[in-house]
Amino acid sequence: MKSRLLFLLLIMLLLFASACNPAEETLAEPVKLADAPQTQEQERVDMAEEKPIAEPASGLPVQPLNPVPTAQINFQTDLVDELVYRLSYMSSPIAGRKVTTVPGQLPNAPRRYRNGIHEGVDYYGISGGTIVLAAADGTVIRADHNFQEMTLAEYEEAIRLSAAAPTTPPELLDKFRGMQVWIRHDDGVVTRYCHLASINPEITAGIRVAGGQALAQVGNTGMRANIVGETKNASDEPHLHFEIWHGNTFLGQGRPLSEVLELYTRILD
Ligand SMILES: [Zn+2]
Repeated sequence: MKSRLLFLLLIMLLLFASACNPAEETLAEPVKLADAPQTQEQERVDMAEEKPIAEPASGLPVQPLNPVPTAQINFQTDLVDELVYRLSYMSSPIAGRKVTTVPGQLPNAPRRYRNGIHEGVDYYGISGGTIVLAAADGTVIRADHNFQEMTLAEYEEAIRLSAAAPTTPPELLDKFRGMQVWIRHDDGVVTRYCHLASINPEITAGIRVAGGQALAQVGNTGMRANIVGETKNASDEPHLHFEIWHGNTFLGQGRPLSEVLELYTRILD
């Protein structure tokens, strides 16, 4: 009896052992395979959970009730990349036209005939009457609907006074810019559209305009060629003189030509 019992016990042990071993092996594989993705998945879950947990834990609301004012745009001290980033909402005031690379048609170019410097960029190679577009959304702050061109005597007197002054006096420079539209954008930057031939009747001071909206027509007002009615050289041709100001500084003022070119092309083109 004893030996039979021992034999039966031995058989059961062997059966149990053989039943256990393959099961461990077959289970081992899927566990290993399932392990790696589970770990990655867990990491993802951990990362996803971190943010919502971390923010309330800091005790600060997601949107501050009184946000710290963002740094103000500064034409004098901001780096080129900063200015490009902040003014990237602007586009060309002449559809399909790129900023010139001619130094004399860019800001800071000398204007010896009036003892001053150029404060904007000129768009030449366009015919008189070409539509001038708002560079961006904003509010019209000036529209010279009642513009009156200088007489030749007035123009020559303005040139004489300018040449005798340390630099072109502002009130004379304003006359040299001819018929103008000014737009104040939401960040306080002002764009000026000058030498216009005419201004669309609906473009009046105080109205809101959208970027790309038609404002006026290209002309040659404020230029000697317009007053005397004759064109002596290429610079007498109708063109848009376009300025970008913040406070008392025009974009590119005092900067090297390479930076001026980079600023205007990257912002407007
Ligand atoms: Zn100009």
